Amino acid sequence: MQWVNRDRDEEADDSSCTFCALPKRGDDRGTNVVARSEHVYVLLNNMPYNPGHLMVIPYDHGGKFHVLDEATVVDCIRTAQTAIAALNDALSPGGYNVGFNVGNAGGASIADHLHMHVIPRWESDTSFLPLTANTAVVEEAVAETYDRVSAALLDRELARPHPERDSVLLAGE
Ligand SMILES: [Zn+2]
Repeated sequence: MQWVNRDRDEEADDSSCTFCALPKRGDDRGTNVVARSEHVYVLLNNMPYNPGHLMVIPYDHGGKFHVLDEATVVDCIRTAQTAIAALNDALSPGGYNVGFNVGNAGGASIADHLHMHVIPRWESDTSFLPLTANTAVVEEAVAETYDRVSAALLDRELARPHPERDSVLLAGE
């Protein structure tokens, strides 16, 4: 039980965290950062379960869902709504899986930095696969997806090209 109960959040620090590092690099296209908001950013998954598979990720490091502050929760959900509206236009999926895998046992690939998956689904796609298995069912290059999702995001109200980056600036930041 000691092993089961150990605090995994203590094992990693944010200096080696991919989700902390990517938005700081400044190469949003090269790192697949497709949009930025005030508290969260949007990252295209480079090993997508389906085309358009993206993640909404708080800038702040942390793996505990139950302590997320209200401003981040609201921005996360609102940004997911904006992303889904854009994906509807860009890719016309038939549905979505939206949600968090929390903790290692919950299947999170990077357990110490929360991230919300938005996965477009089609009636014809593989109907059941573990969503975290990186079993890529990839029919569209991620770079092409980046262009299509960017263009659709720019059609959203309040969205505009980021003044200093390749990504789309959503409200705030
Ligand atoms: Zn982090």
